[in-house]
Amino acid sequence: MEFSSKLLENAVYEMSQLPGIGKRTALRLVLHLLKQPVSQTERLGGALISLRNHIKFCTNCHNISDVALCEICANPKRDTSLVCVVEDIRDVMAIENTSQYNGLYHVLGGKISPMEGIGPQDLTIPSLVEKVKSGVVKELIFAMSSTMEGDTTNFYIYKQIQDLEVNTSTIARGISVGDELEYADEITLGRSIINRIPFENSLKAH
Ligand SMILES: [Zn+2]
Repeated sequence: MEFSSKLLENAVYEMSQLPGIGKRTALRLVLHLLKQPVSQTERLGGALISLRNHIKFCTNCHNISDVALCEICANPKRDTSLVCVVEDIRDVMAIENTSQYNGLYHVLGGKISPMEGIGPQDLTIPSLVEKVKSGVVKELIFAMSSTMEGDTTNFYIYKQIQDLEVNTSTIARGISVGDELEYADEITLGRSIINRIPFENSLKAH
């Protein structure tokens, strides 16, 4: 792509670094911004910079939060003995939307993926294991997507904690393999959380 302006080229390049945005889409978005009042671009830029500079992660569950302890962890009505292990905030949002779950979460921040060079230490797994060791958790619910990386991650955590005093379960998979939690419909997902099965049973099914 040949550009008549270096400024335009730079903006398109930066936009095209985002997932799912090719050079053509990037150019379309940038040209769109150019047609809008400059205040819109300033708000967009400001929101992104402010997000990056001020975002916090909950010290307990590692979810994205504006404060040290997120709303869910700070809510005294939530059952602290129940911890649902998820990949990221999208899963938390999907499960919260079902209104069927009253426990807490533990956000791993990704999945173990040797291909991408992501190991257990790159995720919040050590903090999860510590949490279980402290004895407050009675049940750990695995809710990672049922991809190979998701299964690997679940199994790795399971191995770390299987000798500790904690029950493990997994959300029943009415959800087809490969479906991400965020795309599952709320009723199916809500039912899966209520009808969760012991984690050991899910291992035998493989
Ligand atoms: Zn939290």
